[in-house]
Amino acid sequence: MSGCGCGCSNSGGGPFSKGRDLVDFVFHAHGGAVRDQKIMQGPLAATCQGCNTPFLLETYLGQCPKCDGVHAVAPMSPTVDNIQFAGKEYRLPL
Ligand SMILES: [Zn+2]
Repeated sequence: MSGCGCGCSNSGGGPFSKGRDLVDFVFHAHGGAVRDQKIMQGPLAATCQGCNTPFLLETYLGQCPKCDGVHAVAPMSPTVDNIQFAGKEYRLPL
């Protein structure tokens, strides 16, 4: 079993997924409790992978202030290099 160590399981996707799969994983992780949490190590200086606008990713899932592009980072490895972009057409299923 892989997972985040909290005992919850997710079908499809995972913390090591890429792109939209990772965004989906973070969105649904822990029943949605993770996506709005502040990144424990501090905000990441992200660059939007859709429109190249620099922005601060403060939570594990965030949106570009300019184009609303959805970005997420795996909770166990929140570094700039691990930020994943869901794609230009992706919108959060809210
Ligand atoms: Zn953008």
